[in-house]
Amino acid sequence: MLKLRSLQLVILILLNGFPIFAEEDRSFEIVTSFTILENLVSELGGSRVSVTNLVPRNSDAHIYSPKPSDSIAISNADLVIFNGLGFEGWIFRLIKDSGKENNYLIASDGINLLNQSNEIDPHAWQSFKNIRIYIDNISGELINLMPEHEKYFVLRRDDYLKKLSELEINLNDQLRHIPIHKRIVITSHDAFGYLGREFNIQFLAPLGLSLDAEASAEDVADIINQIKEKKVTALFLENINNPKLLKAISLESGIPIGGVLYSDSLSKIDGPAGTYLEMMSHNVKSLIEAFNSQKNYK
Ligand SMILES: [Zn+2]
Repeated sequence: MLKLRSLQLVILILLNGFPIFAEEDRSFEIVTSFTILENLVSELGGSRVSVTNLVPRNSDAHIYSPKPSDSIAISNADLVIFNGLGFEGWIFRLIKDSGKENNYLIASDGINLLNQSNEIDPHAWQSFKNIRIYIDNISGELINLMPEHEKYFVLRRDDYLKKLSELEINLNDQLRHIPIHKRIVITSHDAFGYLGREFNIQFLAPLGLSLDAEASAEDVADIINQIKEKKVTALFLENINNPKLLKAISLESGIPIGGVLYSDSLSKIDGPAGTYLEMMSHNVKSLIEAFNSQKNYK
């Protein structure tokens, strides 16, 4: 009975010219380098893609050491998507070794670059303007590779862009009431230059653009001086690094720690920054709260 039904199914498929089911249902395998891209690709690709991500949540991509399973994931992928701008220096070797040199997309391609002390700032996802370019790049590539699903991808992209714009308008409305001179923040590494440019917020960080160096005593003294001089009220830890340095600065300057900002990675899925939109919302709202607090300091 079962055999007969299978045979009928095969005949039906042949007669109607349907593609074989296995091929139709197979989702497109994409490897992303870090959680922000994992989230974007899942949102934009929906059920048509299957995403494997390399650097886990709450982890630092600057100093990541690839695992053997990462090479296997890349070897099996139809497409690899990474940030670029020097953020994942380790990924080129993985791609080269897997022979997938033609199958990658640099998500940040075409953004309005920011330079800090003659270095390209890789943290371009911390900007609503830039993330729209990431979205265009990712969606465009999905449509390019799976043109038969163009309508599906366009629908998902437009839906996501709508949510993004609503959040952006909401955050700008809340920030509008904060005077520019109050918008100064201390964080551990320089991950928020793009966010600062977009929302007119000044970020000061003792560690520079990546986390592979330690702050010197001079760097710390310089930050303390700037805190006093500029009457800074906002000091935030980051989810991806050791809080020791910032805790010492907080103690020395008397500014309380305002909380945690999510810089280079999302939180656990049920945390305050489980998705890109939640991360942007959490970060900017936490900053607004700290600017408004006006705590006294030494
Ligand atoms: Zn970083």
